[in-house]
Amino acid sequence: MRFHALPTAALVVAHTYFFAASSVFAQTAGPVQLVSAPISDIRYDVTFDSTTALRRTFAVTMSFSTRAAGDVLLSLPAWTPGDYSIANFARYVTGFAATDGSSPLAWDKADHDTWRVHVTRPGQVRVSFEYLGMTLDNANSWTKPDFAFFNGTNLFLYPEGQPAEFSSTVIIRTNPSWRIATGMTQTGPTTFTAGNYHDLVDMPFFIGRFDIDSAQAGGKTMRFASYPAGAVSNSGRRMVLDQLAKLVPPEAAVFGEIPWTTYTLLQVADSGYTPGSASGLEHQNSHLDVLSNIVLGNPVLASLYAHEIFHAWNVKRMRPAELWPYRYDRQQPTPLLWIAEGITDYYADLAEVRGGVINAEQFYGITTAKIDEVSEAAVVALEDASLSAWVHPVDGTNDIYYSKGSLAGLLLDIMIRDASDNQRSLDTVMRDIYRSSYKRGRGFTDEEWWQAVARAAGRSFADFDRRYVDGREGFPWDSVLPLAGMRLMIERTVLPNLGVSISGDEQGRRVIAVDPAGTGAGAGIKVGDYLVSIGGVDVADPAFGTTFSSKFASQSPVHRRRPRGFEKEYSPANRRRSWAELVFQLR
Ligand SMILES: [Zn+2]
Repeated sequence: MRFHALPTAALVVAHTYFFAASSVFAQTAGPVQLVSAPISDIRYDVTFDSTTALRRTFAVTMSFSTRAAGDVLLSLPAWTPGDYSIANFARYVTGFAATDGSSPLAWDKADHDTWRVHVTRPGQVRVSFEYLGMTLDNANSWTKPDFAFFNGTNLFLYPEGQPAEFSSTVIIRTNPSWRIATGMTQTGPTTFTAGNYHDLVDMPFFIGRFDIDSAQAGGKTMRFASYPAGAVSNSGRRMVLDQLAKLVPPEAAVFGEIPWTTYTLLQVADSGYTPGSASGLEHQNSHLDVLSNIVLGNPVLASLYAHEIFHAWNVKRMRPAELWPYRYDRQQPTPLLWIAEGITDYYADLAEVRGGVINAEQFYGITTAKIDEVSEAAVVALEDASLSAWVHPVDGTNDIYYSKGSLAGLLLDIMIRDASDNQRSLDTVMRDIYRSSYKRGRGFTDEEWWQAVARAAGRSFADFDRRYVDGREGFPWDSVLPLAGMRLMIERTVLPNLGVSISGDEQGRRVIAVDPAGTGAGAGIKVGDYLVSIGGVDVADPAFGTTFSSKFASQSPVHRRRPRGFEKEYSPANRRRSWAELVFQLR
């Protein structure tokens, strides 16, 4: 997952503390493990056409066989892997019904996301429902009059308490002229198949009118499907496919293989999405991006593609043990999300510069921005931030395992290269973990990660883990960067700060947040006000920031220490390794 947003003024979050009177906290016993009667010959029919589109629904039918009478318990997932939050897709189900072909079957709910169907005799059973697709989010499902996307986690019921290793068939019913795109194996014009439930729900679908074309990337087929049709020009489509062809080979080189025959980039742009934002969700042979339409054509999208594609190896295949196998009915917290997301973000930057999508200067700029982001945020350990992902902390550290985890990757890369005289790198660790865990059909543990780092570096990294990953010490830029011929330059700036955030709309500059402790609050500024001028400086003036800063810097100072960038080849005389080598070298 990766979420990009255009930079806005910092929001100050007011903290409220609630103190509860001491009391006995009675915790209920854990839920009873539900076990369905076994089922087989599973088939899902999904209808989305211009008629169901009017209701903004998918008509879903699940058919299966039973060997005996008994209760069949069918559940919908609570979340979509990669999007670490509980969504409870069962809430979008309406009109649930069950039949054995000749008569309706009785059913009730066994829990909030499980339907219990009372099957009275062996044979064929069919359950059906409509699913409301109105959520423009890449973990969910969304419909328009001529288009829909859905995630399998939203529509495909599974037999509770039974193994996930069941194969199934999916049939899409739609208008004859509409298209279908998915990463799932196609066995007929509108028929698809998956070997197990994990694959079934890891391959989202596009149905309707959209553009799709393909090119080769790393010797494999890369498809680009985008909605609305015509939204990305022919030259824009060529640019995207050209970027993908540059990004895949350097990413594949880390692991030594491309684990798909065809990869599909599914992209939706819509004015209803948060303006200026773009979000991607990874899968084993596809990813689904949802963007604000104004982001189309923005160069930042290449970094989103690089991030999501790298996930095809890192987290969809090599995966923290806490996430292996995926459980669809509950949260799966792991202290290693900084590896799944942060290290992925580091390799996205590397793939961009190694593939020639960005240059080295832009790489330094991106890295500097990450250091800045971490230095501005509340201090939090990488492992703690990883574990907290599921509860979405409101202190500004909700996504910090991306940038801070990415920087941890940079530090590890430099330190391993230094310790091994550039014979090994973070690439060595990634390939090692990929082979020793994923290739053996299991997840990797925290201990195995640090053992692989120690093998690559030829020395223990227990101290590094204790201080900078499990612990909260600030990263040791001053001692590590010179190992790669670099030094972090810090600039001290003095900024006047009103403590208000503004956002432009058609009426002017509207206040969207006020820091209660700021000078703006003291002057009586409230959320919803429109600012016209501050201290005689016209807010609408494009040069407002500079003019205001120079006029009031001495009166309302807020000191800010921020990284300005890297100085390269800090001590080149006695260093054989340089930053340029670090970026471009593939070992
Ligand atoms: Zn991600």
